[in-house]
Amino acid sequence: MSGNAHPPAEMAGQVLPAKDLPTAADWLTAQPAVRHVESLPARVAHTSSWPHWVHPALLATLLGEGLAAPWSHQREAMDLARSGHHVVLSTGTASGKSLGYLVPGLSAVLEGLDAPTGRGATVLYLSPTKALAADQRARVESWAVPGVRVATHDGDTPTEERRWIRDHAHVVLTNPDSLHHSVLPGHAHWRAFFRALTMVVVDECHTYRGVFGSHVAAVLRRLRRIAARYGAHPTFVLASATVSDPAEHASRLIGMPVAPVTVDGSPRGPVTFALWEPAMLEDRRRSATTEAADLLAALVARDTQVVAFARSRAGVEALASRARGLLADRAPHLEASVAAYRGGYLPEERRALERDLRTGALMGLAATNALELGVDISGLDAVLIAGWPGRRASLWQQAGRAGRSGQPALAVFVAADDPLDSFLLGHPEAIFGAPVEATVLDPSNRHVLAPHLAAAAAELPLTPPDLEMFGPTARACVDSLVAGGILRRRPDGWYWARDDRPADHLSLRGTDAVVAIAERHTGRILGTIDASAAHTQVHTGAVHVHQGRTHVVTELDLETATATVMPGDPGWTTHAQSHSDFQLLGAERSASLGALGVHFGTVRVTTQVTGFLRRLPGGEVIGQHDLDLPERSLVTRGVWWTLTPAALAYRGIDEAAVPGALHAAEHAAIGLLPLVATSDRWDVGGVSTDRHPDTGLPTVLVYDGHPGGAGFAEQGHARFGDWIAATHAAVSECRCVAGCPACVQSPKCGNGNEPLDKAAAISALAAVLDLLGRPVSPRSGPEPH
Ligand SMILES: [Zn+2]
Ligand SMILES: [Zn+2]
Repeated sequence: MSGNAHPPAEMAGQVLPAKDLPTAADWLTAQPAVRHVESLPARVAHTSSWPHWVHPALLATLLGEGLAAPWSHQREAMDLARSGHHVVLSTGTASGKSLGYLVPGLSAVLEGLDAPTGRGATVLYLSPTKALAADQRARVESWAVPGVRVATHDGDTPTEERRWIRDHAHVVLTNPDSLHHSVLPGHAHWRAFFRALTMVVVDECHTYRGVFGSHVAAVLRRLRRIAARYGAHPTFVLASATVSDPAEHASRLIGMPVAPVTVDGSPRGPVTFALWEPAMLEDRRRSATTEAADLLAALVARDTQVVAFARSRAGVEALASRARGLLADRAPHLEASVAAYRGGYLPEERRALERDLRTGALMGLAATNALELGVDISGLDAVLIAGWPGRRASLWQQAGRAGRSGQPALAVFVAADDPLDSFLLGHPEAIFGAPVEATVLDPSNRHVLAPHLAAAAAELPLTPPDLEMFGPTARACVDSLVAGGILRRRPDGWYWARDDRPADHLSLRGTDAVVAIAERHTGRILGTIDASAAHTQVHTGAVHVHQGRTHVVTELDLETATATVMPGDPGWTTHAQSHSDFQLLGAERSASLGALGVHFGTVRVTTQVTGFLRRLPGGEVIGQHDLDLPERSLVTRGVWWTLTPAALAYRGIDEAAVPGALHAAEHAAIGLLPLVATSDRWDVGGVSTDRHPDTGLPTVLVYDGHPGGAGFAEQGHARFGDWIAATHAAVSECRCVAGCPACVQSPKCGNGNEPLDKAAAISALAAVLDLLGRPVSPRSGPEPH
C-alpha cells in the first residue's frame, strides 16, 4: 500500500497483533441502545521523499530513527516553512505533525552552527501546556542531533538555568504564559536569541480560542514586534487538530496570512462509529459515565483495548472504579488492567503509562481531555466518548486515538443527559455530515487588548506603525490607557508611565479576579475560583466540589476574596438562586423579519445571587436559604431576538405561557450553541423576559460570559437560523413529557428551572423558524416512558 517502510516516530510502537475486533464491533453495534452506526472508510497512505535541503546531519538522524520518508502532508508543510511561508498543518491525531516543523527548524539550526556565534538560527516552540513542551523536548533530545541544544523555559525553570538558555539554547520550548510574563518583558536579556530567531512553532493552536485565544493573539503580536526590533522576522509554523478553516484561525492568531496544509497523507484503518443512547430512567437518562463504564468493562472482557473519555475528573474516577468493580465480578484477572488517567503526571509516569498500553498490560483507561495534551496514546482498538466533548474537532481528535496502523477500529459516542447530546443522537448528520466548527477568537476585544498594549509599551515604547499590527481597536485602547494615566503620550509614541511591570497584573487564562478557597482549620489555600463564579459556586453554605473532594463553604468573605471551607459531604447539594436583568447598550447588527427581530451587540447583564436551595441527590428540595450578596454587572456582547405578542398568540401561546416558553427556549438554545460556536455551556449565559423595557417586546438574550465578549454570541448570530433549527429539533424530538435535562432544563438555572413550558417553547421556536423562512421539522410528539 505504501513505500513508507517505516512509520514516522509518532506512529511507531504499535506492534501488537490484531485482535478479533470485528467481533467486538459486531457485538456492540447489535445492541438496542445504538441509535446510529457510521462506517468511515480507510485512508490510504501518501508518502513523499525527504527534501534536498534537509541538513545531512539531520537526514542521517531521521534515517537512523527509521523514518525512511515523510507523509505527503509533512513534506508539504516543511517545504512551505523552508521557503518562508507561514503555514498551519491541520491533520488528524497521530499524523506526525511535528516533523512538519522539526525538519525545517532543525535544518536551519544546523546550518547556523557555522555562524561566528554558533547560533545563526534559533527556534521558539510554544505549547499550551508545560507537559507537552516537556514531551517535545524529550523527543528532540532522543534524536541527539549533533550540536543542537534544546531547553524548556517555563515558570519552574531555575534562574541559573535561564541565563544558560538565553545565551546558548538553539531550540527553546515554552508556553504563551512564560512568553508574556518573562521572555517579552525581559527581551533585552534575550537579545542574541531574538536576533537569530528563524522560526516560531505554535503547537496545538486550536486550543487558543475564546478569551484565551484572544490573549494569545495579543502575545504573538508582542512577540513579532520584539523580534522585529532585533531584526528578526521569523516564519510561523502552526499545528492544529482538524478544524474548519485552519488558515483563517491561524491568520487571526498571528495577524498575518497563513497557508493551510490539510490533506492527511498518513494511513488509517476503517472506523465503525456508533452513537449510543443510555437507557431512560424515570425522568432522566442513565448517566453517560455509568453507561460508558459498563461498555468499557464489556469491551475489556472481550480482549479489546479501549480508552474512555469523560468530561470531568470526577467522571473519570467514577468511570474507572465502576468498570473495575464490574470486572472484579466477571473477570477478576482483568480488574487491574483498568486505570484512571488524571493528568498532572510526571513525564516518567506518562511514559510508563504509554508503555503499559503498548504492551497490553493496560487494557482500559479512563481519561479527561487532558489526555489530548501531554501523553501519546494512539493505536487502541476502541474509543468511548462519554458526553459530547464540546466540539466536533475534539470528537475527531479523541476518536483518532483508535486504530493501529491499517487495522479496523471502533468509536462510540455515549450521549449525556443534555440538549446538545440528545440532538446529536437523532441527527448524526450534524456529526458526520458537517465540517468541524470554526475556532473562534477575537483579537480586537478591547478588554483583552488594552492590557497587552500597556505591556507592549513597557517592553518598548509603542509607535503608530505598531498600532497597525494590533488592529483597528488599538488606537482607542491606547487613548483610554493615556486617559487612565497608564501610558504617557510623547511626540514619538506611547510610553509606560508607571513603576511596576504591567505583565504582573495580567493573567492569560482569565480576565477576571479570583476568589481563594481556603481550608478552615489549616488556612491552606486549596485553589481559586473566578470571581464571576464565586457568588453561585462558593457562597456561604454552598457544597462545593474542588478537585474531586466535597467541601462545605462556611463563609464567603468578599472583602478578602476568600471562601473558607471544611472538607466533608453533608449528603445534599446546593443550588444558587439568582435574579438577572439586562440592558441593551447598542446593536451592531439588526434584522427585522416581520414579527421577529434578531440583533447582535453590546449588553450589560446584572445578576444578583439571592439565595440557595439544598437538594437531596434525587432532586428533592429540603431547604431554601436567603443570601445577602451585592449585584454583579457584566458588560459583554450578546445575541438577542424578539417576537411580538401577536406572533406568539397566533402560535397558541397566551400571555401566561410566554415566560415559560421563552425561558425554556433560552435554556435549550444555550445548550445547542456549541453546535455553531466553539463554546462550552459555561462560557455563555442567557436571560429571557416577556417584556423588555428596551424593546417593549418578549425578548431572549444569550450572551458571552466574559467581559467584552469572546466571540460565541457573535457566531450564534452569524448562524442564527441553523442554531434555532437545531434547538427546535432538540426540544421537539425529546421523548420526555414536560421537559427534562436533555431538552429544556438547565443545571445552571438561577430560577430553579421555573417556569418552563416545553410545548410552548416548541411553538415559539417554530414561530422563529417560520419567520426566518426555514422549514420546520415535523414534531414528534412526546411519548410516555
Ligand atoms: Zn426532554
Ligand atoms: Zn433558567
